[in-house]
Amino acid sequence: MAKKTKKSHDANSARLSVDELRRIFENAGLRLTHQRIMVYNAVVDSKEHPSAETIYEQLKKDIPTISLDTVYRTLSTLDRLGLIKRLQLFDYIRFEPDLSRHHHFICKKCKKIIDFHWPEIDGVSIPETLKSVGEVQDQMVEVRGICKECLAQEGGEK
Ligand SMILES: [Zn+2]
Ligand SMILES: [Zn+2]
Repeated sequence: MAKKTKKSHDANSARLSVDELRRIFENAGLRLTHQRIMVYNAVVDSKEHPSAETIYEQLKKDIPTISLDTVYRTLSTLDRLGLIKRLQLFDYIRFEPDLSRHHHFICKKCKKIIDFHWPEIDGVSIPETLKSVGEVQDQMVEVRGICKECLAQEGGEK
């Protein structure tokens, strides 16, 4: 799984075309429906690691027939197909469209996830001891704290 993504480091996730999506879905024996395309685009166009609920709220304006359940199922299908990544954080789940190597700053207060790059960490090799644990497929550093906006708010409250 050491395959490099073709995207440049700074570029945010590039949206796949409908044809590319259809090929990936059909290879997996799945049908690419309009709703699935809409869910995919909504995640990829989002800048903030959306939750299923956020995607649902956004899409139901255009697709009144869409259900939260459909959104959930589509998101897990997209994750399984490797088109987006499912992030389990604390007690909530978010979705990641940017498949290039990056790390996360997570605000403990507003739960915002901010992407950042950390080349020094990317250059560190994985500890030998991990090899006896299993195969590493993905590595990401999670830095937790309070974001600038929340800090400013806290300051204002005093
Ligand atoms: Zn915050
Ligand atoms: Zn991210």
